[in-house]
Amino acid sequence: MEEWNQSANLALDIGGTLIKMVYFSSTDNCSADSQENRSLEESNDISDDLEICLIGKGRLHFVKFETTNINDCLDFISSNQLSTHVHVKATGGGAFKFADLFMERLGLNLDKVDEMDCLVAGANFLLKAINQEAFTYMNGHKKYLQIDHNDMYPYLLVNIGSGVSMIKVEGDEKFERVSGTSVGGGTFWGLGKLLTNCKSSSFDELLKLSQEGNNRVIDMLVGDIYGGLDYSKIGLSSTTIASSFGKAISENKELEDYRPEDVARSLLRMISNNIGQISYLNALRFGLKRIFFGGFFIRGHEFTMDTISVAVDFWSKGEAKAMFLRHEGFLGALGAYTSYQKKNSGELISHQLIEQLPNGVQCTGDDQCRGLPADPKS
Ligand code: ADP
Repeated sequence: MEEWNQSANLALDIGGTLIKMVYFSSTDNCSADSQENRSLEESNDISDDLEICLIGKGRLHFVKFETTNINDCLDFISSNQLSTHVHVKATGGGAFKFADLFMERLGLNLDKVDEMDCLVAGANFLLKAINQEAFTYMNGHKKYLQIDHNDMYPYLLVNIGSGVSMIKVEGDEKFERVSGTSVGGGTFWGLGKLLTNCKSSSFDELLKLSQEGNNRVIDMLVGDIYGGLDYSKIGLSSTTIASSFGKAISENKELEDYRPEDVARSLLRMISNNIGQISYLNALRFGLKRIFFGGFFIRGHEFTMDTISVAVDFWSKGEAKAMFLRHEGFLGALGAYTSYQKKNSGELISHQLIEQLPNGVQCTGDDQCRGLPADPKS
């Protein structure tokens, strides 16, 4: 079997909002128990502290930069001497837009790899090679999934970046982008910045605000219309949102009268709900029951994942499952990285790269570790 190409140590996904980088370091080796002090929860929160341990070889590191601060990325590559090759695999629109800049500043040639190819390759890589990569999240409960490599396909991959892509994946390199929406992560961040008037606010601050808010202050609920009652005949509880931001028209209030926390919460709920619903409709179009969500918008954020899961569950009447990935934001960058090994990549990767998880977090075969829900066709 071909050896993992350790000299090809850097790949980039240069998106509209963020640059995602994956790089390999062999000096930073890891042993079977080197991660035991890091809990899985820690590695999956919004701390960005993600790594993949290549047992006996080194580590894959994950870093992101804002695309508007591309100089930070260039400085990082040069000061850490990350690029040992003149050619670096790069995907995303920025691989075209910034090609000259990389050449001028670092003498690097960006080898462009298709964005959709990379998203799918990245997702398949994670599902095949990394233990307990995928999980479901609903009502505060996280369940890790054990992926059956022989029964992975088909699934719908929903990548929530600045915008959203929905891709029907039927095999290693067999996929089709079937839909998308421009109402995505960029919308949340952009509208959130405007509506909360926090011009300097970062995405993380906006997320934090949303955590402290209450969407019922602004959203019009079924109960607001029905005098506190459910509309049970069509299965709507009084707490179901009838109209996102709908209360704002009936109350004699200005934007300043609302707490930024509540505005951020309503916005996050509206966008996550909408993406969950469109995803379900596309899964329905093609008879898919498994929907994997990726993209940097998710950030392992509980409220976001919960909202998406509830939307998928509600509209599919429990038939379809929303699933999330621990390295959700790096699908494209990982796909670009694996493209160094295009030949027989699936086999190579799944046999050679197995992440070491912290002790005590194991698949037990009970509820903690369920298989994928059965595909309708099987
Ligand atoms: P793209 O490739 O289009 O840049 P990403 O998958 O990188 O897409 O996701 C970008 C989105 O991720 C942003 O629009 C924002 O909603 C969200 N996001 C999460 N964390 C951050 C962050 N630290 N800075 C900026 N955006 C972030």
